[in-house]
Amino acid sequence: MAVSELRVNGSRLRESLERMAQIGATPAGGVQRLALSDEDKQARDLLVSWFDEIGLQITVDEMGNIFGRRSGRDDGLWPVLMGSHVDSQPRGGRFDGILGVMGALEVLRTLAEHGVKTRRPVVAVDWTNEEGSRFSPAMMASGVWAGKLDRDWVWARTDTAGKAVREELERIAYRGDAPCAGRPFAAYYELHIEQGPRLDREGRTIGVPIGVLCVHWYDVYVDGLANQVGPTPMEGRADALVATAEMILRVRELPSRMGGNMVATVGEIQNEPNSRNIIPGHVHFTVDIRSWDDELALLAWEDLKAGFASVASSHGCAIRMEETLRVQHVEFDTHLVDRVQSCAEALGHSTLPMVSGAGHDASYMALSGPTAMIFVPSIGGRSHVEVENTTWEDCEAGANVLLLCVAQSAEE
Ligand SMILES: [Zn+2]
Repeated sequence: MAVSELRVNGSRLRESLERMAQIGATPAGGVQRLALSDEDKQARDLLVSWFDEIGLQITVDEMGNIFGRRSGRDDGLWPVLMGSHVDSQPRGGRFDGILGVMGALEVLRTLAEHGVKTRRPVVAVDWTNEEGSRFSPAMMASGVWAGKLDRDWVWARTDTAGKAVREELERIAYRGDAPCAGRPFAAYYELHIEQGPRLDREGRTIGVPIGVLCVHWYDVYVDGLANQVGPTPMEGRADALVATAEMILRVRELPSRMGGNMVATVGEIQNEPNSRNIIPGHVHFTVDIRSWDDELALLAWEDLKAGFASVASSHGCAIRMEETLRVQHVEFDTHLVDRVQSCAEALGHSTLPMVSGAGHDASYMALSGPTAMIFVPSIGGRSHVEVENTTWEDCEAGANVLLLCVAQSAEE
């Protein structure tokens, strides 16, 4: 059978996803499989046993990344990589991350059962702690692999209970011996749910992301004057929360003014002393700005900064603003993006070019070599929640696009 005629086994893919969804299953139909927890270990053990069944050469590196390698006709060539992550958010969904790992496994199972020998080796990978909810930052292990994060610094990161990444890797027996250091690769593909509403809304099956938006984080501190609410007249108050409310509305209307795929969010706020009969004296809040255009995102912040300062002074408040994080936008490899598009079309699927608003392991991989992603619809655009859902047909469609892309890259 010609490789282009190969198709994954959709029901086997579904069974694997359903089996994985039992590990850390939550009552409302989601999963909780925090990085390096007992549930993460169970999922890893199952993955390794499945890798083993089809004769993959398994490597675990010192960050706990798991690689399953299938030899090629010319084993000295740079491999084709594909994968994602098995960890989840707290009370997260059953598709985020795991779809990309089960999709990669299904591709390798399909190649194995048809006895296809690709020219290049093909490797499936599970990246440790993509989510970053138990240990920050997110995507830490692909970050180390790509040489963008320091291994010892990441090993020393702790959760809220004070447990360090390294000790938890050792506890679940996934601190491997192989160095976590990137090696050249011919292509990296990551199949993932969209985690947004566009595919579902527009009734398309395959999203073709051209890259990932930049992420800029800021922390803002507003100081007013706390006082008894009853005796203090409305005139002359320095109410830090009222000033903040006006600033939040400025963040809300910023993207429509700036354009350029921008989204801007205030997601976290602390109000002090947070008492019903004290005028708020101190507020801390965060701003998250994302855009395809890094310069525009910087201009947007300059605009906000000036606006925040004038709002603060009109309320008699002092303000301090800090830059917390700046990650540039990432562009995927145009050759591979075109391949995702053409393979999806060859399989008869509707497609939608898009950008990813969320970071993925592919963000770091794109800094190391040719990278692309394949998105499938999230029903209702919901993700990181227990109701996260994708149809089995769409999971299968995405896995078939992955298979075709990997098969083509592996012959190049
Ligand atoms: Zn994910």
